[in-house]
Amino acid sequence: MITLLKQIFGYESFRPPQEEIVRHLLSGGDALVLMPTGGGKSLCYQFTALLLDGVTVVISPLISLMNDQVAQLRSNGVCAAAMHSASGDDEMLYLRQNAMSGRLRLLYVSPERLLNELPYLVRELKVSLFAIDEAHCISQWGHDFRPEYARLGILKETYPDIPVVALTATADKVTRLDILQQLHIPDARVFISSFDRPNLSLEVRRGYDSRQKRQAILNFVFNHPGDCGIIYCLSRKNTETVARVLALHQVPVAVYHAGLTAGEREAAQRDFVNDRVQVICATIAFGMGINKSNVRYVIHYNLPRSIESYYQEIGRAGRDGLPSFALLFYSLQDIVQLRSFAQDSGQREINMERLHRIIEYAQASVCRRRILLNYFGEPMACDCGNCDVCRQPPRRFDGTVLVQKALSAVVRTGQAATMRTVVDILCGKPSPEVRSRHFDQLPTYAVGREVPMRDWNEYLLQMLQMGYLEVAYDNHNYLCLTPQGADVLYGRQKAQLARVEQAAEAGELQRKASGRGGKSRETENVPKQSRRQPLPETAGGEDAMLFQRLRSLRKRLADEQGFPPYIVLSDKVLHSLSIVKPTTEEAFGMINGIGEFKKKKYAKVFTEEIKSHLYDHR
Ligand code: ADP
Ligand code: ZN
Repeated sequence: MITLLKQIFGYESFRPPQEEIVRHLLSGGDALVLMPTGGGKSLCYQFTALLLDGVTVVISPLISLMNDQVAQLRSNGVCAAAMHSASGDDEMLYLRQNAMSGRLRLLYVSPERLLNELPYLVRELKVSLFAIDEAHCISQWGHDFRPEYARLGILKETYPDIPVVALTATADKVTRLDILQQLHIPDARVFISSFDRPNLSLEVRRGYDSRQKRQAILNFVFNHPGDCGIIYCLSRKNTETVARVLALHQVPVAVYHAGLTAGEREAAQRDFVNDRVQVICATIAFGMGINKSNVRYVIHYNLPRSIESYYQEIGRAGRDGLPSFALLFYSLQDIVQLRSFAQDSGQREINMERLHRIIEYAQASVCRRRILLNYFGEPMACDCGNCDVCRQPPRRFDGTVLVQKALSAVVRTGQAATMRTVVDILCGKPSPEVRSRHFDQLPTYAVGREVPMRDWNEYLLQMLQMGYLEVAYDNHNYLCLTPQGADVLYGRQKAQLARVEQAAEAGELQRKASGRGGKSRETENVPKQSRRQPLPETAGGEDAMLFQRLRSLRKRLADEQGFPPYIVLSDKVLHSLSIVKPTTEEAFGMINGIGEFKKKKYAKVFTEEIKSHLYDHR
């Protein structure tokens, strides 16, 4: 099995549950496989398909997913085809010919199509295994119910001898039981892998206003030159504003939201998948059906509505297992907006509870990964070391005076000002609201001007979290004093605050704010291109220039063949090549992730490129 794994997929070994799953399926058993996105679910049935006599039929809900997997398999020399509403005549001809000659190993099919063609398929193709991808679509409890999926129980009923494997990245217990029941596979073995994604680095930043967020994003993008990322925004308007700022600084960018035509959305997705645009600014409508393995970061411009959706969205980064980033911004504004969404939704209680949990996550001062995994029922025994809290634990100081200044400002307004206005008062900013309501006459006006505005935002969020303040959501979102707050204000209690750690761009922002600030709203500072930190996994002597060269070569080869670049070779393989620098076909073939087919196809052109690079840098 290991020989075949290397020969076809180019991998040295199975990941822990894969081999067990393959063996179980080979012995004729049914299975339910729960693995996080990027965990390696597809290999479980793809590899099994190679060893079974007949064709493995894979049921998948999305055309883009089917096409992507078929392209991946063919790029490794495996005969696979897809049958769905958009399959052209060429594809059907390919399918028929290969099915007849017995070469076809895997057939991807949409559930509707499967149900129509079932008798024909089973008889003529000799189905060896049914694999049901995205199996949570079967359950009304899941977040992505599809009625056609609910009819798949017919498979086991009609063909009890053909094994069924259901796969999903959605883990909750109710959905799990529902899948087993509806597919009529009550005795299926359930394989659950850890939902941890240790290669994802987690970070939360709060208290930024929109302009500061855009500046921070610009810095982030410049610090990851050439890397692909997704930026999720709550509104269409924000996707467009963020995209405009990036485009202004020559970052290849596209937007994706429900206001575009289907054609425009498809084009944006295609450009992103094919590395023609580097960043996509999207509402949550984007991402399902994207198999792109080299998404290096996911940024949330706003707080997502639940931990489930957050985890699913950040899961789109780093599917290839390389270090990747999840950066979340959140502000009180987001909470106000999400609260009103939740209030107006049909399931008010549930959605408020979900919102509550994601707010807790964002405000946490303990390891973030522990919170996430705990939420998914998988408690961790120690801190992760790869989140902002672990890297920079909060440093507390006696913030009594600061808290008193803020609370006093709140009280002086008659508890009738929003957080934004309170910050303006503290900093002495004569905003229209401040002037029209004569807040600039208050004794507390400008008493906090020694503290930067962004820090005040952060401190006020901390005060909310510690219960010194409340937001009157039913009264213009005004800030109000609580009894605990009164204790601090009147000197009966001391208050600790966590120091605001200056992110790289904060310095720049302050300079700008105090200098010629506010000159042009959209031209943010162009960050200095800082040298990229070496990636932890590849720190051992990667040649960064060679990597860039190989990445360009890969792009050219991909464009010539009409594939996305990651299907030619993954980022992981490119990094390995830039470390090992193989110059012979044999050495090229030893790289993890290169099988026989790709070795034959690409060894020459890549080793030539490596040789010429080595020659240039003798
Ligand atoms: P999922 O379907 O669970 O989201 P994929 O099947 O797309 O995940 O696999 C995620 C990534 O892991 C892919 O880039 C794949 O090539 C890689 N991968 C899968 N199995 C192995 C393995 N045994 N060794 C190395 N890489 C693997
Ligand atoms: Zn951590």
